[in-house]
Amino acid sequence: MSRSEELFKRAVKRIPGGVNSPVRAYGAIGETPRFIQGAVGSKIFDVDGNQYTDYIGSWGPMILGHNHPAIREAVIRACENGLSFGCATEREVEMAEFICERIPHVEMIRMVNSGTEAVMSAIRAARGYTGKDKIIKFAGCYHGHSDALLVSAGSGVMTSGIPDSAGVPKACTQDTMLAVYNDLSSVQQLFEESKEQVAAVIVEPVAANMGVVPPADGFLQGLRDLCDAHHAVLIFDEVITGFRLKFDGAAGFFGVIPDLVTYGKIIGAGMPVGAYGGKREIMECVAPAGPVYQAGTLSGNPVAMAAGLAQLKILWENPDIYTRIYQKGEMLFEGIRKILVENNCPYQINHVASLGCLFFTKEKVTDYASAKTADTKAFSEYFKYMLNHGIHLAPSQFEAMFLSDAHTEEEIACVLELVETYIKEKAGR
Ligand SMILES: *Cc1c(COP(=O)(O)O)cnc(C)c1O
Repeated sequence: MSRSEELFKRAVKRIPGGVNSPVRAYGAIGETPRFIQGAVGSKIFDVDGNQYTDYIGSWGPMILGHNHPAIREAVIRACENGLSFGCATEREVEMAEFICERIPHVEMIRMVNSGTEAVMSAIRAARGYTGKDKIIKFAGCYHGHSDALLVSAGSGVMTSGIPDSAGVPKACTQDTMLAVYNDLSSVQQLFEESKEQVAAVIVEPVAANMGVVPPADGFLQGLRDLCDAHHAVLIFDEVITGFRLKFDGAAGFFGVIPDLVTYGKIIGAGMPVGAYGGKREIMECVAPAGPVYQAGTLSGNPVAMAAGLAQLKILWENPDIYTRIYQKGEMLFEGIRKILVENNCPYQINHVASLGCLFFTKEKVTDYASAKTADTKAFSEYFKYMLNHGIHLAPSQFEAMFLSDAHTEEEIACVLELVETYIKEKAGR
């Protein structure tokens, strides 16, 4: 028995499903999860001494690669002063200033401890600000695991076998309206049905929790216009796209400006950090400036802030990182597209910059319904093949492949070679 298998056997006795977040269990794949010992740059090592090139990147935070020396140093230095004070610190001011001074649509920002918290709080702020209750979300978009948003939620929920979630009272989701991604008429219709009761529209500007689904031309601008027409708050959930597509995220990448944004993942560089921010007028509704209550014992934690700020500074000071990972995205995902075409393979490849997904379906994937046509068994087979050849992919059809600045062209060429061999072997059967 491998160390990973041993650990998993122990884990399932004491941790539900053996993991602290569902997708880690490899449930969709039917394998034992690899337990990780450490990671450096693009490489990750398991407890059995196997090495993989990692395309999970801790689900996004590791845009510079694992264990970046400058970030590690910043964390160690911060630790020397103590781990938490529950009081205001200078670094929180620095973090807020650093972001607000560089991203014009973020006039004020509040730190929290996860993406889930960021979204939950942004929704509350939007409701407090507008005095309205209803929200519109899109099928297949994931916004964390808070009650109101666990409706057609994508990510781990897609493969867990539970349609949505037990334990969420109907009362908590009765004000959540469900629209179709990339379909503005579905949003328009909900606005009309709701009789001007919509507080907010929340969207992943690039859907990256049902695989990767780019916004169609005009979709994000259409949401902007609908929100303006109906006095609703437009929230971009940039927990994945923020600081990834560009420093100013999908808003900057697509040139559509939301009222509120939520951050997570990259903003903490691997530490548990989330944030929400945007228009001053809305953010001033948040306590203690305003009546919308939101708090956190460990929010703005000094060690977490040190990690996040170190990463954001590197990203800001080296904009060529974005050019490089964009080009790597082109090389990898367009390379896969070419292989599919040359081999008459009907599978779909979707990508935006450094995020991409190979869908095992012949249907064009533009929304949740088309994403769900993917053959998850075929994906599992592919996943195992790649893992056995040293490539660490997200263990689910409905997750993105994350590139980092640490990935080399050689590593990408290696993935392409494996994909080509795999597709050819399959075609030959
Ligand atoms: C990961 C994710 C979240 C939730 O963040 P957690 O830190 O896991 O709570 C919310 N929204 C999106 C788009 C995400 O990808």
